[in-house]
Amino acid sequence: MNRGYAASALGCRCPRCREGKLFQNPVTINLKKNMVMNKECPVCGQATEIEVGFYYGTSYVSYAMTVGLSLISLAIWALTIGLSVDDNRFFYWMGANAVLLIVLQPWLMRLSRSLWISWFVKYDADWRQNQPVDVSERMNPDQANNW
Ligand SMILES: [Zn+2]
Repeated sequence: MNRGYAASALGCRCPRCREGKLFQNPVTINLKKNMVMNKECPVCGQATEIEVGFYYGTSYVSYAMTVGLSLISLAIWALTIGLSVDDNRFFYWMGANAVLLIVLQPWLMRLSRSLWISWFVKYDADWRQNQPVDVSERMNPDQANNW
């Protein structure tokens, strides 16, 4: 079975083998539980945090996705319900869009991490033979609070 890049990233799979799950639990509104990651991929052993503070930049990713989704939902709203300066349809869209974004938030937070790691860890078709890159030096626990 070969998962493509998009299916792997959208499904929050390990980017190296595209098999193992990055997160321990199914998507849940319990945000703390939702974000618990496997320390390493349960299938190929790829570390999910490849350096200290690795996921720091993901807030930019989720922000960009939030903006993108809002533009898409506005476009769909304009094409189906329509927009007019004579009534409140634009404000109804704002409310509906806010609800949509809140509902999608647990998944968006995970997706931004999944995308993030997929930009740093390359797919390895021979992951069964090769060892994952050793990141223990970069993950030196003594340095964990020094960045
Ligand atoms: Zn893996």
